[in-house]
Amino acid sequence: MLTQIKGLHHVTSLASDARENNAFFTDTLGLRRVKKTVNFDAPDVYHLYYGDAQGTPGTVITYFPFPNADRGRPGTGEVGTTRFAIPKGSAKAWADRLSARGVSGLSSADAFGETALHFDGPDGDGFALVEAEDDRTPWTEGGISADMAIRGFHSAAMRLKDGGATGELLRFMGYEEIDRQGDITRYTIADGNAANVIDVETVPGASHADQGAGSVHHIAFAVENRARQLEVREALMDTGYQVTPVIDRDYFWAIYFRTPGGVLFEVATNEPGFDRDEDAAHLGEALKLPSQHEHLRSRLERHLTPIED
Ligand code: ZN
Repeated sequence: MLTQIKGLHHVTSLASDARENNAFFTDTLGLRRVKKTVNFDAPDVYHLYYGDAQGTPGTVITYFPFPNADRGRPGTGEVGTTRFAIPKGSAKAWADRLSARGVSGLSSADAFGETALHFDGPDGDGFALVEAEDDRTPWTEGGISADMAIRGFHSAAMRLKDGGATGELLRFMGYEEIDRQGDITRYTIADGNAANVIDVETVPGASHADQGAGSVHHIAFAVENRARQLEVREALMDTGYQVTPVIDRDYFWAIYFRTPGGVLFEVATNEPGFDRDEDAAHLGEALKLPSQHEHLRSRLERHLTPIED
């Protein structure tokens, strides 16, 4: 069993409109945009990152807004719900805030003894806010005070046809099963960051998801550094997983592999972080381009729709 993985690092999803996406995460949810860059493989598409003040691993949700992308169709083989931690007693205030802003899909659905408020993102993304004891410092300059601001991820919930093999993989990665409720098995990782919960819902009869706007593209797990990442890569390959080489993502190093249930997993390093190419006080403000795309800057600046007025 591995001991290098410390919980979630980031969650990356697909969207249809960059402006709407930016407004939802920075204004409605009050997160900090910590990076404005482009997709490495499709540089005419933004890659937007939102999180706490520094973009601490375990707080960062990232989006590829493909203009006018069709919505995904929910199903199995994907992360169905991404959950953020909020302070105890703040769910009611969140329900009022989201309702006043016309957010759809609002419903209370407590599980595993926790108060949770479910809601849809701009493209029908499955989200929930979960009341939790969480001592992480929230970003409050987005206009949401510390008594309700999001702390970071609480968990990710996968929907699978058969959770067995993925459960086995999670245990290999260092997670342990701590609870079960109906068709949902809850795993947590000892000695992890605060985003240390994964739920696996088994839905044998459901059809496979089609990815599109509102779908989670992959979830990334955190390791401290590149040495730990290489250990994880080797161990996964020894177990029979096809793992990509280490890829430089500018703000972390990444490896990817497809899990038995169909969900794409990444293992990402906590180093070097989002302040490697801009001042911590101004994260996310300027358009940052991967060095191989810097020569496209003038064209991209004309082509990419501004995300704020
Ligand atoms: Zn990623």
